[in-house]
Amino acid sequence: MVTGIVAGRLAVVTGAGSGIGRAACQVLSREGATVIAADNNYEAAVQTIKTHTALASGSNAVGDHSAIETDVSDSNSVQHLVQTALKQYKAPPTIVVNSAGITRDNWLLKMSEEDYNTVLNVNLKGTFLVMQAFAQKLTEASLPGSIINISSIVGKYGNLGQTNYAGSKAGVVAMSQSAAKELGKFNIRVNAILPGFIKTPIIETVPDKVVDKLLKMVPLGRLGDPVEVAELITFLGSDKSSYITGAAIDISGGF
Ligand code: NAP
Repeated sequence: MVTGIVAGRLAVVTGAGSGIGRAACQVLSREGATVIAADNNYEAAVQTIKTHTALASGSNAVGDHSAIETDVSDSNSVQHLVQTALKQYKAPPTIVVNSAGITRDNWLLKMSEEDYNTVLNVNLKGTFLVMQAFAQKLTEASLPGSIINISSIVGKYGNLGQTNYAGSKAGVVAMSQSAAKELGKFNIRVNAILPGFIKTPIIETVPDKVVDKLLKMVPLGRLGDPVEVAELITFLGSDKSSYITGAAIDISGGF
């Protein structure tokens, strides 16, 4: 029998091919969920399912988990994700994790319109498209659900070289809180998570001397592990957090 705090639930995770999204697949499956790993890098999503999710749930087979190539910034691609999931599982996922995110850092005075648009399209519009598409299916099916959107503490405090990224992440919080107000009556919860500095490929774009400087402002004195964020995601996806919605939760080592 499958056990765990999300046993028997179906979860979809975007950005599942790497970092926090991959760790979310790992912990959600460890806690009994079936996972749909969505990423624009299909091979990476398959790798998540093969080497993280299935192993985490105690088997070396892929089981019911699946990988679907998805570009969250493209509404046609998001619709394809929704339709493929419905066809395969006959019901919408009741846990939706928006972890797909990118950076294109530059000083405000030098940032191109293209880099601004690219970041906003993935981080903010992508979160909107995925959240809207699955919330529509949940309400049509009269199912409760939990949507978890990954923002960043940079969306709260700002950061050098990240006007585009910080703006997108502040938007994710406001959007999540607004959606929580609208979707509460359907028993669909929406929460935002604001990670600090987490050890994933995205952090590799930040110069070492900047990371060292930032770590001095982290009371716990270290980078976070993606699994630590995934534990919070899984808690928010589970009924253990049944009275939490519209929240924006820092997970930053105290930054
Ligand atoms: P990551 O390791 O780079 O993973 C992000 C994943 O999203 C990658 O697999 C990436 O694929 C995928 N992706 C990018 N654009 C996509 C698109 N248009 N559609 C679908 N998938 C797409 O980054 P991470 O650190 O895990 O970040 C996950 C989330 O946490 C992001 O939203 C990020 O902003 C947020 N966050 C991270 C930190 C941190 O310190 N790591 C801190 C605060 C917030 P490609 O590799 O092919 O681009």
